[in-house]
Amino acid sequence: MRLRNVKGSRETIAANEWVIKDLPEKREHWAEMIFHNDFPIHIEIGMGKGQFLMALARQNPGINYIGIEKYSSVLVRALEKMEEDPLPNLRFIRMDAENIPDVFGPEEIDRIYLNFSDPWPKDRHAKRRLTSKEFLGRYDQILNKEGILIFKTDNRGLFDFSLEQVKEAGWKLQNYTFDLHHSKYLEGNIMTEYETRFVEEGKPICRMVISR
Ligand code: SAM
Repeated sequence: MRLRNVKGSRETIAANEWVIKDLPEKREHWAEMIFHNDFPIHIEIGMGKGQFLMALARQNPGINYIGIEKYSSVLVRALEKMEEDPLPNLRFIRMDAENIPDVFGPEEIDRIYLNFSDPWPKDRHAKRRLTSKEFLGRYDQILNKEGILIFKTDNRGLFDFSLEQVKEAGWKLQNYTFDLHHSKYLEGNIMTEYETRFVEEGKPICRMVISR
């Protein structure tokens, strides 16, 4: 993804009420500490500008959502949208997902979304792919035992790699499709920014649902 530096984005994030900066001390009781309720927590890793999570948060007030994004310049765009349409059940964290087990306690998270994750096409960068077995190992530490992970991508190479990693990591494939928009799984699908663009270009979207 090509990034344009947005001047002042770090400062904006540091001062923004929707961005979690003081993480709960014991990495536990997130719902209580941050949202003051006991609703389940769903996260999107690599949320970009937040279109997908904002639509979900609007639709499901009984679920807490957290968007995780590595770059301030991208996250700041989601914050602008939140200023226009504040959602009490949505928060953001600016961080690299590599550190996710340091942030959430065991089984704190009920669902993980990965949407159009960076493909890292070179073999030597395979461990950086958000669906690599190394990342699945990290999710294993924070995801509720009944929790699921839902992954969408237009990149068939990354999807095939991910199918292999699921098997190698000992996760279970609940269902998958190589063409979500012409499948029985389309109902209730929320489009992400990237998905909107790819669907307009006529590209098939792959999707898998996995669990332990
Ligand atoms: N999910 C959005 C969508 O579908 O429209 C954005 C997709 S964009 C291709 C991938 C996003 O993931 C970028 O915003 C990138 O900065 C973020 N990202 C990539 N690697 C990450 C990591 N290790 N931790 C957190 N965010 C990451």
